[in-house]
Amino acid sequence: MTKIGLEVHCQLTKLESKLFCSCKTDYRSFEPNSNICPVCMGLPGSLPILNKKAVEKASMLSIALGCKIPPKISFFRKNYFYPDLPKNFQITQYNAYGPTSIGYDGKIIIEDKEIRIRRIQLEEDPGRLVYSGSSEKTQVTLVDYNRAGTPLVEMVTEPDFENPKQVRVFLNILADLVENLGIADPYLEGAFRVDGNISIEKGNRVEIKNVGSFRDIEKALHFEITRQQSLAERGMPITTETRHWDEARKITVSSRSKEEEQDYRYFPEEDIPKIIIEKTLLDSLKKIMPESVMSKKERYINKYGIPVQVAEILSSDKFYSDLFEQAHTEKNAKEIANLITTDLKGFADTKEQREQLKLTPKHLSDLADSILGNKITRNSGKVALQEMMKTGKTLSEIISSLDLGHVEDESSLVKTIEEVFIEEQKAVSEAKQDPDTINYLVGKVMRKTKGKANPSLTLDIIRKKLDSQ
Ligand code: ZN
Ligand code: MN
Repeated sequence: MTKIGLEVHCQLTKLESKLFCSCKTDYRSFEPNSNICPVCMGLPGSLPILNKKAVEKASMLSIALGCKIPPKISFFRKNYFYPDLPKNFQITQYNAYGPTSIGYDGKIIIEDKEIRIRRIQLEEDPGRLVYSGSSEKTQVTLVDYNRAGTPLVEMVTEPDFENPKQVRVFLNILADLVENLGIADPYLEGAFRVDGNISIEKGNRVEIKNVGSFRDIEKALHFEITRQQSLAERGMPITTETRHWDEARKITVSSRSKEEEQDYRYFPEEDIPKIIIEKTLLDSLKKIMPESVMSKKERYINKYGIPVQVAEILSSDKFYSDLFEQAHTEKNAKEIANLITTDLKGFADTKEQREQLKLTPKHLSDLADSILGNKITRNSGKVALQEMMKTGKTLSEIISSLDLGHVEDESSLVKTIEEVFIEEQKAVSEAKQDPDTINYLVGKVMRKTKGKANPSLTLDIIRKKLDSQ
């Protein structure tokens, strides 16, 4: 059986300052090597001071992922030499001497499958290496330390995933979760990075390092399954190794042999005292934490009778669920849920689309009320929605400028129906025998009025006309 485990690094991008100094977390907006200080550069004599807000945000994530939180947390030095690491060690957390990381033993359910979270740890990001061209062929490597010390949470799962699709679903849920909790913007470049380890039946474990996008981790895992299976079929060994994802060629490539845990020479970071996590802190965090995606979904189903699948789509995307929360009333909730998940979805999925969107909650609310009040058909509603998204005009402006309102004028509707009765004599006599076929005639009237006839009025008139013939 294929086994996949993940290590997900997520920057706490919503924090003001770095993990151990007051340099900015928003390193992306700085000239290279200008968002630095003696602490994040690891200069001799400098001392780290732990960012309290980072501990709070990481605690919130631990709570949301059902983790246990130890009464005291502590930090360790993970020693390795690499040009992007100014101190030659990374300050991180380590559970080898008992649980002292901010969270452990959690779980998250995806598609009825339980994924266990082994641990959540707080740590600092290293700096960034900038190559000219690809990292293998580069003539010049530049170092930018602006990122060094940026607060991260690393989430480590047990190898509970059976296929790459479960991984994608999990990552989507996780991304929504950190966004919902106000911890991070997971879609910022480099904010969410994933390592995957994967083994097939009886094979050794291979690690894929540092994949920057969700789609790519799924592709990388698929590629690895195929590669490992073809080795196994030919009786060749699958070597335990670290591979990296070559974004351009869409393949995994063997990289430096991986350090073993013992090579890092972890030892306690004595410059940071042990931190007591008070129960009162956790209680107050629980109070301010937003509703989880799971309980939001339940509420949509139970309170408004929204179908499970619709509720799932709606609750899992904060942008759409915020829109729903602001737009809906008790009465039009179901209709608005439908409009968002069937007609709006696809047009407001990406950041760019969302930035250009002129749609307001009031637009949606007006539209849903008009559809429910039979003032506009669902079809015309789709057209109106598109127009609202593009222009931001009000519903009544759009209805009059595009002539989308119902044909409420009964006499003109009667005239159209008479025309249909003349053109469709066969269907008329069929409808007299079998009332189930009456929809065919309604459809013809709709087509003639370009979808603007009031459906219930049309049906009434046709029924009366059939009875009187
Ligand atoms: Zn600094
Ligand atoms: Mn890490």
